[in-house]
Amino acid sequence: MTVRLYNTLSRRIDELQPINDNTIKMYTCGLTVYSHPHIGNWLGYIYWDVLVRVLRVSGYAVERTQNITDVGHLTSDDDNGEDKMEKGARAEGITAWDVAQKYIDIADREAGELGLVPADHLVRATAMIDQQIEFAKILDDKGYLYRIAGDGMYFDTSKLEQYGQLARLDIDGLEAGARVSVEGKRNITDFAVWKFSPSDQKRDMEWDSPWGRGFPGWHLECSVIARETLGDQIDIHTGGIDHIPVHHTNEIAQTEAITGKQFASVWLHVNHIKVDGQKMSKSLGNIYTLDDITRRGYDLDAFKVFALSKHYRKEGNFTWSSMDAAAHRLTAWRNMAALRHQPKYLGDAWLTMRETPGYKHILFDEPFRFIYSQLKDDLNTVEPLMWLDQLTHSIVVMPSNEQFLHKFSLLLQAIDDLLGLNIAQKTPDISDDLKQIIMKRQTARANQDWQQSDELRHQLARQGITIRDTRWGQLWEYCQE
Ligand SMILES: [Zn+2]
Repeated sequence: MTVRLYNTLSRRIDELQPINDNTIKMYTCGLTVYSHPHIGNWLGYIYWDVLVRVLRVSGYAVERTQNITDVGHLTSDDDNGEDKMEKGARAEGITAWDVAQKYIDIADREAGELGLVPADHLVRATAMIDQQIEFAKILDDKGYLYRIAGDGMYFDTSKLEQYGQLARLDIDGLEAGARVSVEGKRNITDFAVWKFSPSDQKRDMEWDSPWGRGFPGWHLECSVIARETLGDQIDIHTGGIDHIPVHHTNEIAQTEAITGKQFASVWLHVNHIKVDGQKMSKSLGNIYTLDDITRRGYDLDAFKVFALSKHYRKEGNFTWSSMDAAAHRLTAWRNMAALRHQPKYLGDAWLTMRETPGYKHILFDEPFRFIYSQLKDDLNTVEPLMWLDQLTHSIVVMPSNEQFLHKFSLLLQAIDDLLGLNIAQKTPDISDDLKQIIMKRQTARANQDWQQSDELRHQLARQGITIRDTRWGQLWEYCQE
């Protein structure tokens, strides 16, 4: 049941040691809902979804929280710049509240379409403003905050000995090369816990606080939502690698300043993807969304295959040809899964494995041992997918037995439980009508009526079914895209 994960905090692969017996408390930094999420945003959630599945298969109960950033995330990480929500509102000519709702709805729909296991607590930052103010008050009472007039309340990072440990920040080096981002900061790494509303302008989102009218600093929501829903200490915290030096570092500072305990045991960070070898950017027009993928006719599960084909810690590169390759693999796996439906009308022809020693052993003795063991080893998704490729080449049709079929079905189900790729679910048996056509073609072939045989083949093709003639009879497959 041991799960090993690369922990950014320790910079090594650590064995997961739950704080509370059997329950893993997991926090994931969620989307900032100011624009349509792009494919790079979804990548992390696909990996964390597999992680949740692996933990559950390993016998853990997983309690999971994800926030929705709908206020306070500035266009710059150093407390400068505009609130992304307010900027989005201005661009679209609607309020920040409407912008948030619009993209929350899109994100909900897309998470559903990706088949991601929903978080137990999905919490908007604006739903916990009171709790954030309470939390900041404690920080203030403990002497961690100071005021920068006309700007906000800042956290004095020099008051925490451990500050910057996650990112291995070289504070002295940073100070030496400092560019003063906000006038009045005592230390370069200090960050806003509460920002004041501008005096000359009314924000869509602002609240009264003991320090003045304004809104929470971006990092505050994660510290507070995690603590309110999961408690002082959590097992796993996930996010993108760009969160390490500022956002996660500051979440840790705030939480540990209050609790005096380690916030999260394991910190996981997903790497970026590029598109055609370049950083995604508006000017290059290469920021794709899931809608762009479905519009081109791909199944979103194929996008998941693309994602899982690289390890979460490696940088990825999205190209349309890599999507083609992923779609091709998925279709091949689904056709393999469809094989389990064939023998019912193939007479003597049954399924079995080609004599590939290692794989045969896996299939019969420990159906998913290999895939599972790889996933438990720092979420290695790459090898299991390669193993599926092998499996498609290893299964052949020849006389076999019901027991094999049963085990084969169990294996496919187990793989779906772990990877969430719907390999078995999306390969239902074909309809009786289609089977009738196949049987009719069998008869036509037996009668050497090649013309009718061809007509029936075309009829099947129009319904998405390809026929392969083998020495044991006809096998149907879903057409390759
Ligand atoms: Zn966060």
